[in-house]
Amino acid sequence: MELNQVSFRYPKHQTVLHDISVEAPKGKIISIIGPNGSGKSTILKLLAGILTPTVGQVTLDNQSINTFSRKQLASKLAIVSQKNDLYDEIKVIDVVKTGRLPYHKLLDVISDEEVTQYLAMTNLSELAQRPMTSLSGGQQQRVWLASALAQEPEYLLLDEPTTYLDIHYQTDLMAILKQLHEREQITIVMVLHDINQAFKISDELWLIKDGKLVAEGSPEKCYDSELLGAVFEARMQIVTVPHYGRYIVEIPGK
Ligand code: ADP
Repeated sequence: MELNQVSFRYPKHQTVLHDISVEAPKGKIISIIGPNGSGKSTILKLLAGILTPTVGQVTLDNQSINTFSRKQLASKLAIVSQKNDLYDEIKVIDVVKTGRLPYHKLLDVISDEEVTQYLAMTNLSELAQRPMTSLSGGQQQRVWLASALAQEPEYLLLDEPTTYLDIHYQTDLMAILKQLHEREQITIVMVLHDINQAFKISDELWLIKDGKLVAEGSPEKCYDSELLGAVFEARMQIVTVPHYGRYIVEIPGK
């Protein structure tokens, strides 16, 4: 999956991404980090084929993403966005079943058994029959993840998957993603707000500022307080925490 000299602007707006070329190697976990409004979600939507580059192209398995049909794309990639519409009193299990639609014609023919494992993976088995509207934000987020997993995608795109989760569930979710990645060799590209989480889980990082790719590479390469300071316009320091390792902290003040 690759962005090739991609620039993008929303209609009637200024350019928000400038000439980005970067590859998400197959089977890796990649995190996109950078300040708010720097263009991270837009990159994810371009990778998902939801947006089309103004200039340049996005390729999936060396083929332009535009050449895939919606159905083909849905069996290859899944995206979990930050905001999802909730319609009526739809039950958890039915939301997860919608993930199987690339493989079936109708929702009605999908059995409960077919999605059991995805509910289990995301610790939702006990909530399967509950209406979505009765769940907390964090639980809903796990349902969207379960639905994306049910798509059995080769590529999983996640936009700030831990936003509504408290710290305990954040760690759980990262563990689920890591397991999934190890078991299925799934390629994960995600926008993560927490840079330390990103550094811990990722094989590669993309550092974005003002719509430009400032740096990319392994966490090892990106543990650089000057680089991170420049990206986030803050004073950053890298400290060593016992039983954890390197930890990036922001030093208050200029
Ligand atoms: P990030 O994910 O890093 O917070 P985004 O990709 O959401 O950044 O946004 C990048 C820029 O594009 C911001 O300036 C934002 O205001 C703008 N933007 C995002 N979505 C739209 C939209 N639908 N229409 C116009 N501008 C948008």
